[in-house]
Amino acid sequence: MIAANKSRDAAKLLGILEQRYGKKPRPPGWSLVETLLFYVIYYSSGVTAARRAFKAFREEYVNLNEVRVSTLSEIRATLRMAGASDKTAVQLRGMLKQIFASENVVSLAGLHGVPADQVKRYLSRLDVLPVHAIDYLLLVKWDYPILPVDRQVARMASRLGLTGANTREVRAQKTLMRKVNSNSYYDFYTLFLEHASKVCTDKPRCDRCVVAKYCKHGRSHSGVKSK
Ligand code: SF4
Repeated sequence: MIAANKSRDAAKLLGILEQRYGKKPRPPGWSLVETLLFYVIYYSSGVTAARRAFKAFREEYVNLNEVRVSTLSEIRATLRMAGASDKTAVQLRGMLKQIFASENVVSLAGLHGVPADQVKRYLSRLDVLPVHAIDYLLLVKWDYPILPVDRQVARMASRLGLTGANTREVRAQKTLMRKVNSNSYYDFYTLFLEHASKVCTDKPRCDRCVVAKYCKHGRSHSGVKSK
C-alpha cells in the first residue's frame, strides 16, 4: 500500500472512530502539573473517571502539594471513589514528589516559554513519566506537532496495516506522523487510545469492531468482508 493511500486510510479510520466515540475536548486551561495528573488517570481509566478523579482531587485536597504528602491509601481511596483505577496512585504521587524535588514546589510553571524539545529532555530526566505522557503534554500545552503513541495505539495501528507488523512505539510514531495530518494528532491519539483500550485490546474483539472491514487482522479473525 503506497503512502498516499495509507494517509487516506488513516483519515477514513479517524472519521469512523469519531462517529463511534465522539471527539474528545482538549484539556481546558489547567496548569502543566494538573494536565499531567489528568492524563495519568485518563490513560489508565478513561476520560469520564479521569474527570471525576480530577474534580475530587481539587475538592478534597487543598492543592497538589497536599496530594504529594498524602499517603498512598488516601490517594487510592480518592481514585476509587471517582471510579478510577487505584493502581496509578504510586505513579501520581511519584510524579508530584519528583517535580517537588526538582522545582522545590509542585509546579512546572517555570517551563512556560521554554522550547518544547528542552521541555521534553527535562521531563524525561524526571524519570516518572512515559514518553507518551510527555508527548501528550507537549501536544496539548505547547501545540507541538507530535503524535503521542503508546503500546496500545502502536499495536492497533499495526493490526490495521497503518504500520508494519509488530511495529513498536518509536517506529510507529515516526510512521504515523507521516500519514496523519498534524491537525489531527490529538484526535487520532485520543480516538485510537479509546478504541484500543475498549475493543482492540490484547485479545481484540474484532466481531464488535467498527473498523473491522478495513483491518487485515480483523478480516482474518472475524470473517468480516473487506471494504
Ligand atoms: S478488527 Fe480487530 S484487530 Fe482490527 S482494529 Fe478492530 S479490534 Fe483491532
